[in-house]
Amino acid sequence: MPEKIKVVVNEDKCYLCGGCAGVCPTLAINVSPSKWEFFQDKCIYCRICIAACPVGALSAEPLGVGE
Ligand code: SF4
Ligand code: SF4
Repeated sequence: MPEKIKVVVNEDKCYLCGGCAGVCPTLAINVSPSKWEFFQDKCIYCRICIAACPVGALSAEPLGVGE
């Protein structure tokens, strides 16, 4: 089981291209023309999105107990 994380976006870097949403196997990210959204309950901690972002806008934070 991979370490539990939450995925966070750096809004200064993200240009809402939708690439991360496109590669997420569980549809845990939604990108619209106005915002980037993450759905913790769907995330399986694979980190594919973080590797896929062309501008390095995504990072992982440890998920605390109870989050
Ligand atoms: S870590 Fe994996 S499951 Fe979670 S949002 Fe990124 S691509 Fe989706
Ligand atoms: S791939 Fe990167 S730049 Fe594109 S929407 Fe996702 S976080 Fe933003």
